[in-house]
Amino acid sequence: MLDFNNTEIAFSAKSQSELQNAYLLFNTIKHPWIVKCASAASNIALKIHFPLAWAVKPTLYKQFVGGETLEDCRKVIDHLRSFNVRSTLDFSAEGEQTPAGIQATFEETLRSIDFAKGNDNLAYAVFKPSTIITDELLTKASEKREELTIEEIKEFREFKERFMAFCQRAYENDVRLIVDAEDYSFQNALDELTDEAMRKYNKKRAIVFATLQMYRHDRMPYLRQILADAQEKDYIAGVKFVRGAYMEAERARAAAMGYPDPICKDKPTTDANFNEGVSFAMDHLDRFEIFMGTHNEESNYMLAKLIDEKGLARDDKRIFFAQLLGMSDNISFNLAHEGYNVTKYVPYAKVRDVLPYLIRRAEENTSVAGQTGRELKMLKTEIERRKHTK
Ligand SMILES: Cc1cc2nc3c(=O)[nH]c(=O)nc-3n(C[C@H](O)[C@H](O)[C@H](O)COP(=O)(O)OP(=O)(O)OC[C@H]3O[C@@H](n4cnc5c(N)ncnc54)[C@H](O)[C@@H]3O)c2cc1C
Repeated sequence: MLDFNNTEIAFSAKSQSELQNAYLLFNTIKHPWIVKCASAASNIALKIHFPLAWAVKPTLYKQFVGGETLEDCRKVIDHLRSFNVRSTLDFSAEGEQTPAGIQATFEETLRSIDFAKGNDNLAYAVFKPSTIITDELLTKASEKREELTIEEIKEFREFKERFMAFCQRAYENDVRLIVDAEDYSFQNALDELTDEAMRKYNKKRAIVFATLQMYRHDRMPYLRQILADAQEKDYIAGVKFVRGAYMEAERARAAAMGYPDPICKDKPTTDANFNEGVSFAMDHLDRFEIFMGTHNEESNYMLAKLIDEKGLARDDKRIFFAQLLGMSDNISFNLAHEGYNVTKYVPYAKVRDVLPYLIRRAEENTSVAGQTGRELKMLKTEIERRKHTK
């Protein structure tokens, strides 16, 4: 029976010392002041090129990152797979948005799509569109397209070529490819491109996956629109459901710029919207493939229950559960143990380049009331359980 409180299964992949280290880490980052200081210190260290690896690598990096390169991640990938958990390698370098930085990210992302070819340990490839274009241009192309200059039109065309090159390569490699979602201000242009790519590459199966941030109150109508389009143009839509990671910034921007807040009014409304979206896609599995990225136990129980109630195989290729490496192992490993499809997002990049990602993970885990409280409780239970079963 599926039980996210089963800590024996949840941490079966961790040795006793790894458990202790994880406990120590979560116990440290639960204090907001420590994370604030670490965040400030790392910003300074990045600016003055102060070496950081000695402090970060054995702690945050070890918990949340797979390695520096694709090859480096093999150990983590194989280990996860031995517990029926697949990986989704996520090049998480948040480099400078210079032409050279963009070109380097473009080439690395292509390598990651090639790396996933024919590799059953890898469930998907993934990319963040904002890493191959400047934020400024992506926002302008989304919100004020008619004001683009000739030079900007040319640059945006180059971005589109890169975006489509990823999709083409994924199609040729028969690898499913997720287009991550970020700021609201980017999303109109990205939705348009992703819809176009799905029409082109998803004829036989879902290759390209759109990400829907269900904290946005306009995402159910968009989901219905995707379904109608898939029915009319005869393709399979790939949809990754998340709640959305930028709530505070989105609310602040909307208030500052004087447009309506795009985010649901409160958490229960986001939760209901998220669950409605997933259920809707489950009711139209002839047209959808689903990737559900969440650490929310209720949503994970709900999807597992829906799969069973509909009499689908638990490893039906069209449905995947997903969590981030180093977080919510109680969900991932218990689902995988029960035979459901599970993937972990496994970020990889050099320590310096992945630092902003790590600080965000630490910030996300500073509240004892939320995720950290749960992680700590689970880790403690398992450490105690092992002591008594020796
Ligand atoms: C595998 C994976 C991939 C991801 N990819 C992306 C991505 O591409 N883009 C992206 O934006 N995020 C992404 N995320 C992060 C995700 O959007 C959430 O921020 C994060 O997972 C926390 O939400 P939850 O569903 O796990 O858990 P919960 O703790 O149940 O939900 C927290 C979320 O609820 C919403 N929320 C909280 N308070 C309120 C409120 N007052 N009003 C309205 N809504 C509220 C916010 O979205 C918040 O993040 C990803 C997460 C995972 C696990």
